[in-house]
Amino acid sequence: MDFHALSKKYEKEYVKNVMELLEIPSVFEEDSVYPYGKPIHDALEKMMSIGQDDGFIIKNVDGHGGHIEFGEGDEIIGVLGHLDVVPAGSGWTTPPFEPTIRDGKLYARGAQDDKGPVMAAYIALKLLKEEGFEPKKKIRLILGTDEERDWKGIDYYFKKELMPSLGFTPDASFPVIHAEKGLLDSYITYPVPESKEKTKVVSVHGGDRLNMVPDEAVAWIESPLDIEKVFNDYSAEYKLEGTVKSAAGRYEVKVKGNAVHASKPEEGLNAITALLRFLQSLPLNGEYESFIQKIYKAFETTDGKGLNVKQMDEVSGPLTSNLGSIEMDEQTCKLGFNLRYPVSADYRAIDQKLKDFAEKNKGTYEVYDHLASIHLEKDHPFVKTLLSVYNKVTGEEAEVKTMGGATYARALEAGVAFGALFEDSPDTAHQKDEHVRITDMIKAIEIYAESLYELTR
Ligand SMILES: [Zn+2]
Repeated sequence: MDFHALSKKYEKEYVKNVMELLEIPSVFEEDSVYPYGKPIHDALEKMMSIGQDDGFIIKNVDGHGGHIEFGEGDEIIGVLGHLDVVPAGSGWTTPPFEPTIRDGKLYARGAQDDKGPVMAAYIALKLLKEEGFEPKKKIRLILGTDEERDWKGIDYYFKKELMPSLGFTPDASFPVIHAEKGLLDSYITYPVPESKEKTKVVSVHGGDRLNMVPDEAVAWIESPLDIEKVFNDYSAEYKLEGTVKSAAGRYEVKVKGNAVHASKPEEGLNAITALLRFLQSLPLNGEYESFIQKIYKAFETTDGKGLNVKQMDEVSGPLTSNLGSIEMDEQTCKLGFNLRYPVSADYRAIDQKLKDFAEKNKGTYEVYDHLASIHLEKDHPFVKTLLSVYNKVTGEEAEVKTMGGATYARALEAGVAFGALFEDSPDTAHQKDEHVRITDMIKAIEIYAESLYELTR
């Protein structure tokens, strides 16, 4: 089969189908009838009807998810994408749910994440079917409905339907992401020791999402000192950005950071740790001062050293830690943080160390969310097939990748992320003017069609 020529032949059909799908504003809504709201239901039904019209076996699993199936056999190869999108936000050049093509780029909410890639995978199935290919395994394009929120849809789906033996998700980037770090969101809550000095920290606030390096943190300070001068001297020396305001004998110190995603915290500037570092330079003395020092030290570096969990492996690199939030007053201090640990790490050991760390300072440790790591060996035949098709189509000699973020592949028992962004593609997911290059999507169709062919012939 000439997958290159065939993928081009399907361009018109791809564009028509994906634009119809992108018109549906499938953002989550509370609803008493449909589990994730009417628009998401409509998007799922739309895919079901496209699949049915083209002669595939389809199944809508109670509105929580569905699949389009092609081929016969005991084994199932899964392709897992999602039809829900994040809210549009503002600042769009053209309306987010009126898909528009400009300069070969398709603009709409969901164009990249994930309807564009889902439709590319679908067209790959259709192309194989219309060429008369008869796969020796079942191929299931599984359609999730709740990826952007809680993954409840896919949990429900897999309670009712068989788990594919292997699968990939077209909801990230090429080439093959074969390992994803474990993700942990946790809180430690400490009692705050009494401060006996004239200079007192009344409260500290910063950050609201643990998966981002916070770009702002604020402290209220009571002091007979000229805190504005103290801060300005300090910030000049340490190249810190921030402002000080005073009102009613109190100072508000606001520190600016540089927000980046928590998977690469070392590339940002954490406003909370920067503020803590400034606070520990004040004459606080005694137990209170050592408390501030302790929490600063715990997150001073982004490698988990201060929490006693620093480690790395060759497959997925170092553990990363991000202090994502702080809520502190004169009684309690609650710290929220995100850890991303390597695939070979022992989660139980990490859990125990964090508990011990918290208890050593009379704190309580609490896990908010945990996603275990996933890893398919790079010489697994499935991984090798996907990678070799990618390299053949693109002419590259790419290697497998690992990721600190979470892709939809984690919903599979054995899965990887595979596309549909290329190295030089614009990454506009969740942003205004989200778009994909149509040439990228046609190339993705070629890669998906040939991969599925190789995996099931
Ligand atoms: Zn997505």
